[in-house]
Amino acid sequence: MAKPTQADAEAAVRTLIEWAGDDPDREGLIDTPSRVARSYRELFVGYEDDPRGYLQRTFAEVGGYDELVVLKNIRVVSFCEHHMLPVIGRAHIGYLPRNRVVGISKLARVVHGFSRRLQIQEKLTADIAEAIQDVLEPQGVGVVIEAEHSCMTLRGVNMPDSTLTPSRLLGGIREDARTREEFLSLVRGG
Ligand SMILES: [Zn+2]
Repeated sequence: MAKPTQADAEAAVRTLIEWAGDDPDREGLIDTPSRVARSYRELFVGYEDDPRGYLQRTFAEVGGYDELVVLKNIRVVSFCEHHMLPVIGRAHIGYLPRNRVVGISKLARVVHGFSRRLQIQEKLTADIAEAIQDVLEPQGVGVVIEAEHSCMTLRGVNMPDSTLTPSRLLGGIREDARTREEFLSLVRGG
């Protein structure tokens, strides 16, 4: 399948403007198709990204550190694959290192890379957890994403303030009740 050009994308946006009931040739809208097409390149940059790559650079000298590492409140901007509407929220990631740790900015980049695609939040949560498990090979991983779906809050059932909070726990964070509780209470701690 040949990738559509910028002109193809702009023509599609023009069609959507007309479909919505407006005139794509009026002054305020004249440059909108090109702006929308360019913003799509940025918002869906995840298709050009390999988030697993960010996890390759690790620090092995951790001095035997084997306690839970938790990074909270990583901003998530994603798009639901059913309506192409924004899913905005926060991700919380924890892992139990086995010999190696990764810089916290790299975890944020992994979230960014996987987020900027069309998907469902459950898959996003699982993709992040599995990438960390596969590349970093920690003793366990936990990922929780709290997010508001515009398709729920702006349209359809119109439920303002409803959030979805899927989690994916792997390895020691899933199996060891104390570690699981420690991770979940750190995440819930606001
Ligand atoms: Zn949706």
